[in-house]
Amino acid sequence: MTNEAEKTPKELFDELIEKSKKLLSAEEIKAVKKAYSVAADAHKAQLRYSGQPYIIHPLAVADILLNLGMDSPSIQAALLHDTVEDTDITLDDLKKNFGEEVANLVDGVTKLGRVPLSTKEEQQAENIRKMLLAMSHDIRVIIIKLADRLHNMRTLDFMAPQKRRDIALETLEIYAPLAHRLGIRTAKEELEDLAIHFLDPIAYDDISKKLSETGESRVEFLESTKKKIQDRVVEIVENPRIDARIKSVHGIYRKMYMQGKAFDEIYDIYAVRIIVDTVAECYNCLGLIHDMYKPLPGRFKDYISTPKKNMYQSLHTTVIGKEGIPFEVQIRTKEMHRTAEYGVAAHWKYKLGISGKGNMNMDERLAWVRQLLEEQQESGDVREIVSAIKSDLVPEDTFVFTPKGDVINVPAGATVIDFAYAIHTAVGNKMVGAKVDGRIVPIDYKVKTGEIVEILTSSQPGKGPSRDWLNIAKTSSARTKIRSWFKNERRDENIAEGKAEIEREFKKNFIRLTDEEYDKFIENLAHHQHCASVEDLYATIGYGGVSVIRLLPYIKDEYNKNYKKHEETSGVKTVEVRRSTGKQSVTVEGIDDMLVKFSKCCNPLPGDRIIGFITRGHGVSIHKRDCVNVPKVIAQASEPERWVKVSWNETLKEDFRAALQITALSRIGLMADISMQLAAMRVNINDISSHEAKDGRSMLYMSITVSNVEHLRNVIQRIEKIDGVLSVERQGY
Ligand code: MN
Repeated sequence: MTNEAEKTPKELFDELIEKSKKLLSAEEIKAVKKAYSVAADAHKAQLRYSGQPYIIHPLAVADILLNLGMDSPSIQAALLHDTVEDTDITLDDLKKNFGEEVANLVDGVTKLGRVPLSTKEEQQAENIRKMLLAMSHDIRVIIIKLADRLHNMRTLDFMAPQKRRDIALETLEIYAPLAHRLGIRTAKEELEDLAIHFLDPIAYDDISKKLSETGESRVEFLESTKKKIQDRVVEIVENPRIDARIKSVHGIYRKMYMQGKAFDEIYDIYAVRIIVDTVAECYNCLGLIHDMYKPLPGRFKDYISTPKKNMYQSLHTTVIGKEGIPFEVQIRTKEMHRTAEYGVAAHWKYKLGISGKGNMNMDERLAWVRQLLEEQQESGDVREIVSAIKSDLVPEDTFVFTPKGDVINVPAGATVIDFAYAIHTAVGNKMVGAKVDGRIVPIDYKVKTGEIVEILTSSQPGKGPSRDWLNIAKTSSARTKIRSWFKNERRDENIAEGKAEIEREFKKNFIRLTDEEYDKFIENLAHHQHCASVEDLYATIGYGGVSVIRLLPYIKDEYNKNYKKHEETSGVKTVEVRRSTGKQSVTVEGIDDMLVKFSKCCNPLPGDRIIGFITRGHGVSIHKRDCVNVPKVIAQASEPERWVKVSWNETLKEDFRAALQITALSRIGLMADISMQLAAMRVNINDISSHEAKDGRSMLYMSITVSNVEHLRNVIQRIEKIDGVLSVERQGY
């Protein structure tokens, strides 16, 4: 705003080159010169609002970045940053002339420039900041953008008043906090002060006036304090650096207008900074300061052992001298100071320097930051800090726009359903489809950062979500909202759905009850689930509030206790008779249409050698030939005439039950492995129980459905191969 404005582009450029000689190699400077000539040529017909040649702006941005210590590609990109958006130069041109890296940086800055930032509330602002970080895969993009904004703020005077306020507000809400997050204090404070200057000129002038009113005595106070501290510190520390300054206008403004403090009540208008070599010296200096001045209680903060999220480290204390003027003292090492001033940018300035290692990815950059921290750190968990920075810089969330430009934050992998419910429950419930960037997408489309998502809604009342959305939605909040819609809006449907589901599960699990028993059973279940009525229970199950699967253990328990008819034969627990299919699976020789029953002592399977026994009034009972209940020699049996020859009906396809006893070494996941093997073979498990023996073995009993002996043999072989299984026996031998 001052004499900078009078310099010609050529003069400014020469200064830039002169400065860069300390930081960049000859080759890098050559590239910067080329970037300048291309940019100057492209912008040659354009003027800024100030009437100056446009190239002044990219030059100033490059200068800011050079002062931050950024690398050659950043400087080149800064010079070229407005060419793709505002001139005939294309991204391909840049790629050809300056390489992929510079082109990508310019592309990133251009894209950030297109993000609509009109914002109102804090949450929106935070989302936008995160989104900007997520969008700039290279952190240098954000730093260039910050420098761009800083120069625009410095020259905001030339804009129309409303435009000024808009840009200043955006700066205060988005860019200054971004600079703070990246730890670039210099940019943060200047952005904030400039923003306040344009947003609240009266307050800004008021504070400036108050600061200058007693200007001389303030300067005197600062100078004498600095001298006193200097004299004492040099006694214990070699080459300390002591700074004394008046803090930023914005800092004072915030305390006066947002925390309602009077100007005189603000302690940290003055700040003294002591910069030393080691952490130990920091604490020594703190002791010294507390010896010289009276510390204000509750004002000491140790950000060395507990750094701020943006890597900031320092000791803070506020003390009061005999003049009665309180001031803040910050004590830190040189490295901490670099981080405090330049933040993320610091490791370009101090680590990469002229080494030319510009082409690092995010992880490598963070590794640099980590190293930086480790070198200066004597306590505190560095990994934690680094991971905090990383998750801050590379959010896992996705940021998408509504057509109005609001940013909605959803977790990675979220679908348009999640997005719709994130906007508003009513939007989700009324959704019939979605458009992404103007194109219709399927309902399970996963949204990506930067996309504009429009939810198409139905005007028809009563239209609601679909049940299968429950499987598509990624967020539990969307699922909860879908369930609650079904809970409230579709009671009849839920009751029917719930009842059907219970009946399905009962059938599957062989829970058989008479109608009377069923009513009683369900009533008890409803009571157990704290439902006011059976209908409530059905409804709850119907909308998915409770799953029947989860209730099954209780249901089975109750059933076994109160309803199941136990039948034991020869010590072997039995299972129910198989499904009847009208046609019989066994032919009894010489007898047609004889009622056939499979004995529960040996559970014969197709393929087993079998024999029949004519019972009194219950038809023929089928046993395995080698069943213990079958006489070895029929002729010697007490009633040999009742034993009849039977044979398997080969053509019949029917499922049979077999009981297995598995002995295995107890281990986590055994049951899961077995069920997976069985599922892979399409074998249903009808019943399973287990108990643990004292010697670390598990005994598993299960009843499974197989089609014949051959099938069962395969199943047994598969189970025997499972890790930890010692033996598998078919019960009933
Ligand atoms: Mn610009």
